[in-house]
Amino acid sequence: MPAPVPAPAPAPSPSPSPVTVIGLGLMGRALAGAFLAAGHPTTVWNRTPARADRLVAEGARRAATVGDALEAGGLVIICVTDYQAMYDLFGDASDGAVGASDRTLDGTTLINLTSGSSAQAREAARWAEQRGARYLDGAIMAIPAAIGTEEAVLLHSGPQSDFDAHRSTLAALGTVTHLGEDHGLASLYDVAGLAMMWSVLNAWLQGTALLRTAGVDAATYAPFARQIAAGVAEWLPGYAEQIDRGAFPAEVAALETDARSMAHLIEESEAAGVNTELPNLLKTMADRAIAAGHGGEQYPVLIEEFGKSHNAA
Ligand code: NAP
Repeated sequence: MPAPVPAPAPAPSPSPSPVTVIGLGLMGRALAGAFLAAGHPTTVWNRTPARADRLVAEGARRAATVGDALEAGGLVIICVTDYQAMYDLFGDASDGAVGASDRTLDGTTLINLTSGSSAQAREAARWAEQRGARYLDGAIMAIPAAIGTEEAVLLHSGPQSDFDAHRSTLAALGTVTHLGEDHGLASLYDVAGLAMMWSVLNAWLQGTALLRTAGVDAATYAPFARQIAAGVAEWLPGYAEQIDRGAFPAEVAALETDARSMAHLIEESEAAGVNTELPNLLKTMADRAIAAGHGGEQYPVLIEEFGKSHNAA
């Protein structure tokens, strides 16, 4: 009989690591509050010091200066209005060089959750690298009240190893995802998600405006619209496969069939006296694709129109 193998000692549960949050606006306060609630020793700094008062009362440590905040050690999260505000705090990026008045970020891991463009994110990564920092960019797809719950989606991009090193700390904020090594990806996903959100909302508003002319109120139409939106969402994986393959066989409907329905939407909107800008935009793009010979193909062939840099005339 083999000797019993002793069970390994349970791994000690890691104590929550220290975090510094710089920028305590509506979002920054929510981020710091979530770290505190998860037990992380949390240092905070804000240009307007009074905004830290409540967090300090809840147990946060107030840093007197940005330099003190950086020296607190651990992960540094910044969430301010825009990238320029970050540069104002840490040193100017515009000349590309580390100036005498710039703060050293040597050895710091900086996670920037400020909203911006992918180009700004990539530039900030170079800027941080010049100052000796490890850098992840991030985008928050949530409102402050959702931070600290799994409904809050936080997207990150940059080196996988840096994300992995801080994943468990970031998890205090919500559902965190690493999108890839390219620092611009979080910002790109952010605007892609916003494009989806606004497009769905605008389509719903168009229909609501139309139906209201027939006495149907928004609340009556909303459940129907929701069902349509959910049904269309189901098509995305199959359509994505067509786009990635570059082949658009009309398995459900041809684009010219859609274009005829778009004409009905325009006619109905004109007749009802509601805005026709959105229906006309849809039809203009479809007509261009049809003129280019794609009328017999399926709707996602329009990716070729969306992929062009020119704007509609
Ligand atoms: P906010 O309430 O207006 O707070 C802005 C923060 O930036 C404040 O801490 C402000 O400091 C600081 N700031 C601005 N310019 C500065 C400068 N030159 N130097 C130092 N500090 C400066 O905005 P927020 O809602 O927290 O948003 C912050 C970021 O999160 C933005 O990029 C936003 O797009 C993003 N975001 C917000 C939400 C949301 O629902 N709120 C959702 C997703 C993403 P003072 O307090 O001293 O003015």
